[in-house]
Amino acid sequence: MTASDEHTSPSPPEVELFCHRCGRILRPGKGNWYEVRIEAVCDPASPHFDDSYSGESLADAVEYAIEGMEDYSDLELAEQVYRRMVVTLCRRCYRKWIENPVGDGTADDTG
Ligand SMILES: [Zn+2]
Repeated sequence: MTASDEHTSPSPPEVELFCHRCGRILRPGKGNWYEVRIEAVCDPASPHFDDSYSGESLADAVEYAIEGMEDYSDLELAEQVYRRMVVTLCRRCYRKWIENPVGDGTADDTG
């Protein structure tokens, strides 16, 4: 053993998984929890420009769109266009969530 070995950990620390909804500790290999992968894409349809857009009006439209973005940081802009997240849920929370993944529409969305 050399002096440098003191700075290396013997094994990587175990990542502790928990239910993002109720906080319950989840044990890999038990088969009683779920990994939920959420991918949100803002309007995945391609922008449609037809012949009614002349070069000038198209430039105006782009400029208008850019002006609307100036109040946002790069991160905020990126999150408005694409967002991917992974959450873990215990079986109980998963069963509740999967029955109504988009909520009931009464959530406070003023923030
Ligand atoms: Zn849970």
